[in-house]
Amino acid sequence: MPVSALAEHPFDLPDEAATQALAARFAHAFVVWQSSDARRQGLQVQLNGDLGAGKTAFVRAVLRALGHTGRVRSPTYTLVEPYQIAPADTSVSGTSGSDVTPVTSVLLVHHFDLYRFSDAAEWHEAGFDEYLASQAINLIEWPSRARAALGVPDLLLDIDILGDGRTLTARAFTPAGLLCLSEVSKQNPPSC
Ligand code: ADP
Ligand code: MG
Repeated sequence: MPVSALAEHPFDLPDEAATQALAARFAHAFVVWQSSDARRQGLQVQLNGDLGAGKTAFVRAVLRALGHTGRVRSPTYTLVEPYQIAPADTSVSGTSGSDVTPVTSVLLVHHFDLYRFSDAAEWHEAGFDEYLASQAINLIEWPSRARAALGVPDLLLDIDILGDGRTLTARAFTPAGLLCLSEVSKQNPPSC
């Protein structure tokens, strides 16, 4: 990547529960982003990693932590799955033991999987530029398949398989990405 990162943070994810816990911290950070001035256009989060690294597992956990209760399908064939998450019922959110971050206004999330792309031009042909312009959180698996069309991401998450667990390296490239990463780093700093 020609642009250098504004910040970088490695996270150890020894098991899937750790992935889910970190995804919940990112979900909270996305809600903070949503209510900030940085939300002038969509948030672009790219997820790199081999097949089976845990990209979809991470996105699924983000959606759950935001309060999505329905199914989360891998968009391998559909290329994108959109989600509209309504503000949480305040009588339910904040219940002790709940790790759901209540959203304050409707939150749009687009989950992309570009594995089947063979050319970056397919991104434009599919009309996906509009998705990035909308004030949504765009979580993109296999961004390398459309790298030239995507531009600089706000956040880049690299997931690597390490023994039975995973490591995730998060890099922020924009003020919006920096806001999210500092929010994530604030939460439980000693454990990660
Ligand atoms: P990808 O989308 O990257 O191809 P998936 O999310 O479909 O990968 O699959 C990841 C697999 O790794 C799932 O079986 C999930 O249970 C497992 N997994 C996720 N996070 C961890 C972790 N931190 N340690 C071990 N296994 C994990
Ligand atoms: Mg996947």
